Amino acid sequence: MSKKKEYKLSIQENNLLKAVICPICGEEFEPVIGPQVFIAGTWDPVCIPCSNKHIEPYMWLAQLVAHHGFKMLMISQGSFESKKA
Ligand SMILES: [Zn+2]
Repeated sequence: MSKKKEYKLSIQENNLLKAVICPICGEEFEPVIGPQVFIAGTWDPVCIPCSNKHIEPYMWLAQLVAHHGFKMLMISQGSFESKKA
């Protein structure tokens, strides 16, 4: 039971809103719409606590930047410009 297992995870765009069982911890949860962690090569969503345990933080960051980066860039550039002027 306490045997360590390595999980290969990937972040994919989720558009299904329904409760599922996390394949790692067996807890029921509702995945979010948008970037969501899955077992790599499947569409089995992984809950947030397990995602945080098994995935590198930079992968989240990369996905968030890809998702919102352009908008954020526009906003930050805009505020930077107005501060400077
Ligand atoms: Zn879990």
